[in-house]
Amino acid sequence: MSDLSVTQLDELRAELERQIRRLERSMKTTDEAAKPVELDQTAVGRLSRMDALQNQHLTKNLQEREAIRYAQLHDALKRMDAGTYGRCTSCDAAIGFDRLLVYPETPVCAGCG
Ligand SMILES: [Zn+2]
Repeated sequence: MSDLSVTQLDELRAELERQIRRLERSMKTTDEAAKPVELDQTAVGRLSRMDALQNQHLTKNLQEREAIRYAQLHDALKRMDAGTYGRCTSCDAAIGFDRLLVYPETPVCAGCG
């Protein structure tokens, strides 16, 4: 059982859900940007092939980071439902409310993170 009060848990759940919604919007935008670049004649002048490939590479990195964060946020909600939220998954110490407010998806305490 975590040391968090019901009020604190409610606040953190609302924060997790808010971040999931925001991330879903951001992922939609990233998916658009990840579509293959059309190198038609008009585009080649403004954006070189190197730039286009570089952009795609960055977008792919972003997509991967977003997918990881999305999974972490959902895992945090699952831990909340299971009653294990707020406990470090590594050393079992209670994770401080202040830390959870900043990183509500974190599965580990400041010492292990
Ligand atoms: Zn720990």
